[in-house]
Amino acid sequence: MLVPLGRRSCTDEELRRRKRELLEALRREGVIRSERVYRAMLSVPREEFVPPELRCHAYDDNPLPIGCGQTISAPHMVAMMCEEARLEPGHKVLEVGTGSGYHAAVMAEIVAPRDQPRERWGRVVTIERIPELAERARRTLERLGYADRVKVVVGDGSLGYEPEAPYDRIVVTAAAPDIPRPLLEQLKPGGIMVIPVGDRYLQYLYVVVKREDGSVEARPVTSCLFVPLIGEYGWKEKGV
Ligand code: SAM
Repeated sequence: MLVPLGRRSCTDEELRRRKRELLEALRREGVIRSERVYRAMLSVPREEFVPPELRCHAYDDNPLPIGCGQTISAPHMVAMMCEEARLEPGHKVLEVGTGSGYHAAVMAEIVAPRDQPRERWGRVVTIERIPELAERARRTLERLGYADRVKVVVGDGSLGYEPEAPYDRIVVTAAAPDIPRPLLEQLKPGGIMVIPVGDRYLQYLYVVVKREDGSVEARPVTSCLFVPLIGEYGWKEKGV
């Protein structure tokens, strides 16, 4: 059930109940398939990553505006991308498109679970092209205790992030015209990338597997709609 649009106050108790209802629904629908993804999404407070005036809508299964013309992805899409990436504790993940930082926090809960010793932790490196969003996400992640598991960098993520490469997993949360070559190069053999590819009006979410011999297999899993990946291996600033 959706909260009536524009509602500005709701209790923590109400948010907790709505979060459980949403996650249960995603599980019934088969979007959440693993306990790992369920637990990760249960532990991250999405209400802390959305603008205060949209707090009551944090558990509507919708994208929401986060400023600078960008959005936080819908919870079902975050869940689906985490499942398709087959994230495991210990993985090093590159996320392209930090936005609010929410998806990075969910992935950090999977690759670096608090209940496991730090030596077994992986980490999330997330890259955002808009400095204002990156700074806000960094502050939110720090306040919520993710500073040692998530590194936020500013830059053109269509080029990947070479200083931390290679990655076990790459998750791209903005739509590319094609699979950017630098991202394929920075993916470990045996690694998986999840990326929306298409034009402004129709995209498919692809699961890209880089085999041990370096060959690549790309499989579309669903249609989707993301904001454009803007950069050298993405779209030009207003060119979508
Ligand atoms: N994962 C985000 C979250 O949890 O809030 C949602 C991401 S939003 C749908 C897509 C983000 O990708 C936007 O913040 C946008 O500025 C960013 N973006 C677009 N092109 C980019 C690029 N070349 N490099 C890095 N970030 C990019």
